[in-house]
Amino acid sequence: MAKLVKKVMLVADYEDGTTFWRIPCDCSDPDHDVHLWFEVDEDGIPALRITRELGFYAESWYSSDPWFERVGHWKDRMIKRFKASMKILFKGYLTMDGEVCLSKEGIEGLQFALTEGTKVMVKAEESFAAKRKAEAEAKKDA
Ligand SMILES: [Zn+2]
Repeated sequence: MAKLVKKVMLVADYEDGTTFWRIPCDCSDPDHDVHLWFEVDEDGIPALRITRELGFYAESWYSSDPWFERVGHWKDRMIKRFKASMKILFKGYLTMDGEVCLSKEGIEGLQFALTEGTKVMVKAEESFAAKRKAEAEAKKDA
């Protein structure tokens, strides 16, 4: 594997060829980090799964507003929370979006993870196919 660059972490490197990478958001909140899972499933299908934690933050108490404004807007906040909870309760879902902010180094980290993770995933896919072929040959001989 190439030398690691800044702003990328190889969190786990499993025996089956699955690799788990983490790219930090530039705002430094670890909840915004991008998780990349390169894996080959039990049918031999390779895939990259990208995840990021999403939260409902419509004017949470922990905003940067001064305390008197937070208290003053209590009713507005509660109405937004009530509306969101009603959507979940009656529609069954609440859609949200979240962003991740990447600096140039973050983008380079993402590129690195994509390149190296893909290499490992392709190897895992090839070894999966070879293993299945060997199993089929063994069955034929028996
Ligand atoms: Zn962030």
